Amino acid sequence: MIQQYLRIKNEVPGMLLFYRMGDFYELFFDDAIKASRLLGITLTQRGQSNGAPIKMAGVPFHSAEQYLARLLRAGESVAVCEQIGDPATSKGPVERKIARIITPGTLTDAALLPERSDQLLMALNVAPQSFRAGEPRGEARFGCAWISLSSGECRLAELPASRLATLLQTLTPAEVILPDKERSKIQALMVNAGAWIGSEQHFAIAESPSWQFDGERGEKRLAELLGTKDLAGFGLNRVGAMSIGPLAVGCASALVDYIEKTQGLAPSHLQGLKPWRFEESIALDAAARRNLELSENLRGGTGDCLLDILDRCASPAGSRLLRQWLGEIPSDPKISMARHEAVSKLSDAGLKFAQAELPDFERVAARLALGNVRPRDLSALRDSHVGLHRLREELLQIDASFFAQACEALMPPQQAVELLSRALLDEPSVMVRDGGVFRPGYDADLDELKSIDESCGDYLAAMEMRERETTGITNLRVSFNNVHGFFIEVSQAQSDKVPLHYQRRQTLKNVERYITPDLKAFEDKALSAKDRALAREKFLFDQLLELLRPTVPAWQSIGRASASIDVLQSFAHLAKDSAWVRPEFVTTPGIELRACRHPVVEQKVESYTANDCVLHSKRRMVVLTGPNMGGKSTYMRSIALCVLLGYLGSYVPAQRAVLGPITQVFTRIGASDDLASGRSTFMVEMTEAAAILNAADERSLVLMDEIGRGTSTFDGLSIAWAIADRLVDHNRSLSLFATHYFELTQLASKRAEAINLHLAAVESRGGIAFLHEVKDGPASKSYGLQVAKLAGLPTATLRNAEKIMQMLEEQAAQQTQQIDLFSGDYLNNAVDQQSITEASTRLSMSPAEAETLQSLVDADLDALAPREALQMLYDLRAKLHS
Ligand code: ATP
Repeated sequence: MIQQYLRIKNEVPGMLLFYRMGDFYELFFDDAIKASRLLGITLTQRGQSNGAPIKMAGVPFHSAEQYLARLLRAGESVAVCEQIGDPATSKGPVERKIARIITPGTLTDAALLPERSDQLLMALNVAPQSFRAGEPRGEARFGCAWISLSSGECRLAELPASRLATLLQTLTPAEVILPDKERSKIQALMVNAGAWIGSEQHFAIAESPSWQFDGERGEKRLAELLGTKDLAGFGLNRVGAMSIGPLAVGCASALVDYIEKTQGLAPSHLQGLKPWRFEESIALDAAARRNLELSENLRGGTGDCLLDILDRCASPAGSRLLRQWLGEIPSDPKISMARHEAVSKLSDAGLKFAQAELPDFERVAARLALGNVRPRDLSALRDSHVGLHRLREELLQIDASFFAQACEALMPPQQAVELLSRALLDEPSVMVRDGGVFRPGYDADLDELKSIDESCGDYLAAMEMRERETTGITNLRVSFNNVHGFFIEVSQAQSDKVPLHYQRRQTLKNVERYITPDLKAFEDKALSAKDRALAREKFLFDQLLELLRPTVPAWQSIGRASASIDVLQSFAHLAKDSAWVRPEFVTTPGIELRACRHPVVEQKVESYTANDCVLHSKRRMVVLTGPNMGGKSTYMRSIALCVLLGYLGSYVPAQRAVLGPITQVFTRIGASDDLASGRSTFMVEMTEAAAILNAADERSLVLMDEIGRGTSTFDGLSIAWAIADRLVDHNRSLSLFATHYFELTQLASKRAEAINLHLAAVESRGGIAFLHEVKDGPASKSYGLQVAKLAGLPTATLRNAEKIMQMLEEQAAQQTQQIDLFSGDYLNNAVDQQSITEASTRLSMSPAEAETLQSLVDADLDALAPREALQMLYDLRAKLHS
């Protein structure tokens, strides 16, 4: 048996093997050690292999699903090996075979899948040359494809390494397949790109042979599976830097191979190939998603985040679609406006569709395609026509022409419904193996086998009467149990009356049990009829699946349509209940929000103060000051969330919302160490700021919260200053810049496009009160000590802090006038010796240093030849040294 085990185990390297033995799945050797640790099951040992005891651990087969779920959550993959031979006739170990392979990314079983989120399977590869024209030299180029096997939607993308981390964090795949030969190289590139965070990462890794990633082979394989001549119709190979070519196609085909290996069937429910293009959705990097708490709060939980507020979907499919929409917020307002139109119609109608009555069409369709659908899934499809009919009627009532397309998609395939109505019982059993699936009249053979089984009770009653009469034993019973089959039961006291042809089967305390040749013959017939009926039901079920398989795309499109309606309806409820407003879109860059609120904070506080925000090209930077706890972060986030909600297609928490074109949202909020990748707080802050300055443009919304606070005051202030200046002048983005550096409020007087706003607070004898109201102009004070008092800092420490502050303020007052860093030309004014001397005092330099600097400022660098420039450097250095 161990030899057989080892042979099968060899077929699935890297996976745990559940080896069926009677009523248990056993695990052996290292698998047993791992499973006992992960599942908390007992580790035992038996026999010997190569002189060492064999470690064993097992789980009962009837509760295997819950153990599988736990192993999958721990990122393990499991191969389930079943007995396929008959133990009664087998010589040696019963024949066994791997029946299914369960990996985190290939789940379709309802018991193992989270209801309201997708489990994505992704394949990832890197271009051999990892470099393309138009991208920074040497940057690796990745190809990837991902699929939700339980829905059949496959997406493809090609992207530079710098975007990989964002993609992975947006999609959070459950499992990533890498080509075996390139695995270590790809992992190294992923580490460089910040897309690999070692043991902390949330996805499992699997390997497939590298040849399965070949693009040319992939194209043929996919076209064959999709029934098309080639892949031209899927809009992949669009010309340009973002074209999606053989690299991603190879990944998609590797996905298909992996699915075939694990499921035993290729995914015939694949819903085409859909390119993922970054430019089609608002660019939100991982930091922005995290900071804005879109689908997770800052503590990593799912409560108190935007998704939590937004998700009022009645169906799990709706919740999953909403999550997808949030991962891909369209940058084209046409899509958003179409969604707003639907929301407006649905909210005016105020209807409540009974989505909950409908089955999870997409998932059932996927199980149908992969052959692991259950009878109850099919009866739910059959019964859905009533709910779908009602849904269509209600939509048509609201606006027949607007919802015409949706209603068409919501039509169940008539023939399938008829077939299922004829075939299945009203409430079929959960498992086919239990029988009780088909309706009488559907199959004559099955009916006959069942009538034998059903007539059993009558036969036994008749026999009991007859035997009582012939033997004179009045309390004789004819009965059945699963262990001993049929028997005649006679009490001990009467056992001397039994006729000779009764053969003793079992002796119990007070009764004797017998069998007769007649009863034995009946038992054989009845039991075999039962077995044959079960086999017939299994056969009929497989046949039914074959007949239904062509209707998979129809059920999928019903699933998509009903999920979309569900999400839009969820938006409509929210808009109505929470008084959200329909946004308008304009083509000029800018944002106008009146009385806007933060959707999550609003729910948490007793009374929320709504605020306005107006930004446009002539007023594109807000320098936001105000006390700690004053509401700066909340205000900034509320604006970003309103913009994102508007583009998502939802109404927004405001009284008026006008949105110009926005294609990117950046945030630099909060400070946290990224210990996993070895970056300090300040390093994380600067890396994020660098990314923003490199990419933000006029169609970007940038949120900067207290940039520079991770280092010394002067360093921090200078960096914040320079960043603000660059954002307003060079990037020209719509920016909100919250800061505690009061010096920064000068920006408004230097740059016409910058304004000061502050969050108001009032101080009284009792302490500080935050008004959370945004007002014009800079804040007058920072109230740091008052906030510290609120937080409960010991009185002695507070008093000490007050003294230190007084001292610092006096020192500052004595210092020379502040340098105007924004003018940038303070040295240009220092033309004579006296100015140089003055400048040198101001800048704390020696006159020689200031003069050297001045000659550098004066030099016409564009007119210098390289050699002259070098000479000039030597001269300057010589001057400094002299
Ligand atoms: P810090 O400078 O210390 O980071 P902050 O100015 O960014 O503080 P927030 O974190 O935005 O302050 O807000 C602090 C708290 O004030 C919030 O958690 C919320 O409870 C409350 N708050 C913020 N804005 C409002 C508002 N507009 N209406 C009512 N309460 C608000």
